[in-house]
Amino acid sequence: MSRMDELPLRPELRGRSPYGAPQIPAKYRLNTNENPHPLPQALLADLAGALRDAAVDLNRYPDRDALALRTDLAAYLTRTGGVWLAPEQVWAANGSNEILQQVLQTFGGGGRRALGFTPSYSMHPIIAAGTGTTWVDGHRRADFTIDPEAAAAQVRELAPDVVFVTSPNNPTGTAVDLATVEALYEASTGVLVVDEAYAEFARTGTPSALTLLTGRPRLIVSRTMSKAFGMAGLRLGYLAADPAVVDALQLVRLPYHLSSLTQAAARTALAHTDALLATVDAVKAERDRIVAALPGMGLTSVPSDANFVLFGRFADAPAAWRALLERDVLVRDVGLPGWLRVTAGTPQETDAFLTALGEVAADHRLGD
Ligand code: PMP
Repeated sequence: MSRMDELPLRPELRGRSPYGAPQIPAKYRLNTNENPHPLPQALLADLAGALRDAAVDLNRYPDRDALALRTDLAAYLTRTGGVWLAPEQVWAANGSNEILQQVLQTFGGGGRRALGFTPSYSMHPIIAAGTGTTWVDGHRRADFTIDPEAAAAQVRELAPDVVFVTSPNNPTGTAVDLATVEALYEASTGVLVVDEAYAEFARTGTPSALTLLTGRPRLIVSRTMSKAFGMAGLRLGYLAADPAVVDALQLVRLPYHLSSLTQAAARTALAHTDALLATVDAVKAERDRIVAALPGMGLTSVPSDANFVLFGRFADAPAAWRALLERDVLVRDVGLPGWLRVTAGTPQETDAFLTALGEVAADHRLGD
């Protein structure tokens, strides 16, 4: 028995494991879906000045409502999301994980249920447990797509207080069409969270659920600067929703949760949006190069709208994971039998990954 089990732990946390993407020092770290491209020099120069200016006021608490930052985020979404958004419809926090936690604190909690379509982002059930929300696994088809009728029926039957849809989905890369989002919204009485952490990597023609916000006060779309913006270290996530949702979140958010340094850095990064997002097309090209190379090794992948690829199938995915790590390539074993996930990044990373995979594929792929 571990020492933790001897503590008076909340029963729903007993026997659980923390989120644990291994931070192993491999040469090619392709396991946490970051954008590996170096940040633009002009941004780094501006950040130094912005942080120095913000530091002058560090004796004071930050703007609790982060209004200037939310104005900039609303402008970014308006420019790229196909819909006009006001700052009152946007809320920001330390990563979209904190956004999701605040949503569950507000709309989930003790005696309430959250439903998500697994396999999906592993933090959704972990944050549910942390907020005392009961988690229920939803169904996906064998090809990892969501069957809209079956999913809506499950939502009607269970009447969860919070429904999660991740689009593009992590770890499969699968985008969810808007008709499915609409069907789930109609079927639900609770809030519907569309986790769009990877939205910027979607293939052309994949619309965002932002376009569904008007007239749907229970719909929440969450985003992050950790992926396409290449700012995972900044910890800045945000959501767009009806202003009433943003008002409701104020009931649970900690006062001054977003430091003035974070707010200043995020605003500076947003001022360099075009330069930051200039790498997105290059990352998508690497993703598509990985997908195209797999059949030649007797492997396959799930169609991806994200900056990663779920690839397989392997007789023993953990063994294939180790074989790649021995070649200095760290990918992610997401616990799906037969599959591994690799982050698409620079051409050099793709080269290293494909070379290593070429060496191990024949020994590890699932036999016919
Ligand atoms: N949602 C999804 C689907 C993710 O994959 C991630 C990060 N892996 C997050 C949210 C959280 O990202 P962050 O807290 O860095 O914004």
